[in-house]
Amino acid sequence: MRYGGNTACVEVRVGETCIVLDAGTGLRLLGNAMAQSDAPPPERIHLLITHTHWDHIIGFPFFEPIYDSRVSISIYGLRRTQPSLRATLANAVSDPLLPISLESLNANLAFHEINHTMCFSIGDHIHVSAAQVNHPYRALGYRVESSDGILVFIPDTGPFHTILFSDERVVWTGKPAPLSVEEQRALARMREAIVKLCAGADWIIYDSQFTPEQYLRFPHWGHSTPDQALDIAREAGVRELLLFHHDPHRTDAELDLIGRRYAQQAPPGMRVCVAYEGMELRREH
Ligand SMILES: [Zn+2]
Ligand SMILES: [Zn+2]
Repeated sequence: MRYGGNTACVEVRVGETCIVLDAGTGLRLLGNAMAQSDAPPPERIHLLITHTHWDHIIGFPFFEPIYDSRVSISIYGLRRTQPSLRATLANAVSDPLLPISLESLNANLAFHEINHTMCFSIGDHIHVSAAQVNHPYRALGYRVESSDGILVFIPDTGPFHTILFSDERVVWTGKPAPLSVEEQRALARMREAIVKLCAGADWIIYDSQFTPEQYLRFPHWGHSTPDQALDIAREAGVRELLLFHHDPHRTDAELDLIGRRYAQQAPPGMRVCVAYEGMELRREH
């Protein structure tokens, strides 16, 4: 009730530039806010998608600006062999799931498939880099950097010691299969790249879905605990860690407790907060 129940969507404003991180159900509220604002909608919206699990794209068809011919939307996401990012979103908005199609949308859409080693700029003042995170069917984390600050967005990732996720489904038997030396090395490299992505960030928004007890039961879902998020944040020397992607069954009272507990565990110079719907982050000058 207080922390909010919508799925992942974060708006980033750098001057006039509008970036949106993931298209979960929160995107619908963002579209409504844009439609109700006195200001015209942004001419261009940059939508960065970490992966196409339902909870990260389901807000897309309910985002008002896709029906506005004045708006252009650049959509970024992970390149796969099959299906393309465009095909996945096209399927999600077409029969038999919805009575529309990608072609029928009024906004001008452009798709950009990227890989985890890619860096690119938005305008001449915002730099985006990515890293692969440890999540079923692979996913990205993003670092958005400008003179206003550095924000890292890793809504979905497992830790780096139980399972190495890739494109194949992990069948969970109740006990982790032993990792090969190759897999251990791949996990260590992935973790290193994630710490680098987070290095010196003002804010990292990081997957903290599970309690440690839940993690032991569902490691094949590819989510982390607040302790695992805090380890990464500490190692990367970030200023503020936002615990994010709460378990859908978590209550406000439980999140209050988690917030208090991890705020106390934050090392000097770092803040740890539980993210809530409508939260605003701004760099203090
Ligand atoms: Zn996911
Ligand atoms: Zn998710």
